[in-house]
Amino acid sequence: MLGRPSPRRRAWSRGLRPPEGAARQRPGKAGSAACAWLGALRPRGDNPPVSKLYFRYAAMNAGKSTHLLQAAYNYEERGMRVRMFTAAHDDRSGVGVIASRLGLSRQAETFGADTVFDSAWLEDGRPTAAIQPVACLLIDEAQFLTPDQVHQLHRLAHQHPVPVLCYGLRSDFRGDAFPGAAALLTLADELEEMKTICACARKASMNLRVDGEGRRVKQGEQVMIGGNESYRAVCPSCFYSQDEDPISAPGLFG
Ligand SMILES: [Zn+2]
Repeated sequence: MLGRPSPRRRAWSRGLRPPEGAARQRPGKAGSAACAWLGALRPRGDNPPVSKLYFRYAAMNAGKSTHLLQAAYNYEERGMRVRMFTAAHDDRSGVGVIASRLGLSRQAETFGADTVFDSAWLEDGRPTAAIQPVACLLIDEAQFLTPDQVHQLHRLAHQHPVPVLCYGLRSDFRGDAFPGAAALLTLADELEEMKTICACARKASMNLRVDGEGRRVKQGEQVMIGGNESYRAVCPSCFYSQDEDPISAPGLFG
């Protein structure tokens, strides 16, 4: 008894799958970073493919956007279509621009707090003579997703054969979790910490906000647009080294 096909199988059977030719290609060496994700797209016998929600997190300037752009390139090189998103309010490189510090940049779609990531995002990806199916969603600045949006993306990844790759910060300048990052750490099927180093050569896992005179800022809004402040990726030791007051993280553990 096969019974009623699952929503995922129905999505699969109506054609939300990678192009046949692309699915048969073997990723080259340059594509190794995204091989696991590409593997999730390949049909396995009669079974619909399994896709996942991924969260790659790091401190500032660890190469998250570079990695996202590389992943997009790997998909597109194999004839697959991706959709890329970044936070609408992050206009450091221009609205909707995903920019790598290495010099690469791409225009992306934007998301705000009212964006809904439901299956409509895939509708225009239905295979037609002119439009390829969406093979992957790539989201930069994913710490700015709301917890509801993370649930929507988790559902999308598991009800459609479309992996969702999120890149973002884990904690803010106070050492508190971004709500979107906390939800991603809870729901993502695969977590990966991207490493970068502090000026003292230890692993940097914290984000320090400094004012125009280079002093640490410990209070303020989690998201600051404009102003003279800047950020540095630092290790926990350096994060606390100039700290005279005990740090508290209200709301995390009671
Ligand atoms: Zn350090």
